[in-house]
Amino acid sequence: MKPKVAVSLGVEADNPGLFEEKLSDIADVFPSSLRIGEISEDVKKSEAIILGLEQVNDSFLNEFPNLKIIARYGVGYDNVDVEACTRKGIYVTHTPNILSHAVAELTVGLMLCLSRKLVQADKYVRTEWAKTKKNIKLPKGIDLYGKVLGIIGFGRIGYQVAVRAKSFGMKMMYYDVERKMDAEKTLGIQYVNLETLLREADFVSLHVPLTPKTRGLIGERELKLMKPTAYLINTSRGPVVDEKALVRALREKWIAGAGLDVFAKEPLPLDSPLIDLENVILTPHMGTYTDETRRAMALMCIENVRAALKGETPPNLVPEQKEKKI
Ligand code: NAD
Repeated sequence: MKPKVAVSLGVEADNPGLFEEKLSDIADVFPSSLRIGEISEDVKKSEAIILGLEQVNDSFLNEFPNLKIIARYGVGYDNVDVEACTRKGIYVTHTPNILSHAVAELTVGLMLCLSRKLVQADKYVRTEWAKTKKNIKLPKGIDLYGKVLGIIGFGRIGYQVAVRAKSFGMKMMYYDVERKMDAEKTLGIQYVNLETLLREADFVSLHVPLTPKTRGLIGERELKLMKPTAYLINTSRGPVVDEKALVRALREKWIAGAGLDVFAKEPLPLDSPLIDLENVILTPHMGTYTDETRRAMALMCIENVRAALKGETPPNLVPEQKEKKI
């Protein structure tokens, strides 16, 4: 009997048939719901899980007595209780680096949409332009050139955002719990404290992981420190920002606008006050949602699962498990 591998339905939908194609020589693959209460008896026998954004905690793990590995399809693993997995000897892997450029591209895309009002401009051409004579009846945009980008969380994705911002001629500063001296030299980016960054940046972009320390990192106080002309971009995790405070900031114009890919609750409810605000651009948690990147993420999960099923240490363990051998 081959070991069973459960694949989260959303992850399978992104890569139809790929997990079966690449794993069927050593495993039986089951695309399945991985929500507690919906997991079938067969799936509970799985030795490996390829996981989307479902929550993994002790009660989830108790459903899977044979589990060897949870391969998270993504780099953020705030939905996984790593300590509980480590206690039970279950590997947790993720997909770092290969997706950083895609998230950085979306981040820059949101900045451009905000700075050049691309969403409004598209609507204007479809509905208004032909009716006007000469002048463009849209508020002017602003240049990115010469503006200050403040990156909060200067890791793999933050670095790739800086590489792109440098080519736009932006000035750059970052705040992180760790100094990155090499990157400071290569990119000419300045290390500052959080308060200075918030006061000086024209664009504040968030790239921290969601942890107990970063939950609510940007709240009323922080939003009020930002310039009224500044924009907030969040492609990290929704709860890093106090969403209620952000809605007030956008309504009352403490800041000029925001570009948001992630939210406190996902999918973003249609009755969220964010939906009615004009100075915000919303995308559906799609930082890595490209053909190439989603495939690369799937292949990295497959590599990790194959290693674990062969009794080897998977190559992309989360940092907590790299430090503490399991
Ligand atoms: P990374 O670990 O390379 O970088 C995170 C950086 O944040 C590190 O430099 C770390 O030192 C810093 N940091 C941690 N805690 C901090 C704190 N309290 N204050 C300041 N800095 C802190 O991670 P990455 O690969 O760059 O990914 C970052 C995050 O992006 C992921 O954890 C994930 O939540 C998010 N993400 C979102 C999408 C999307 O679709 N929108 C896709 C991929 C990743």
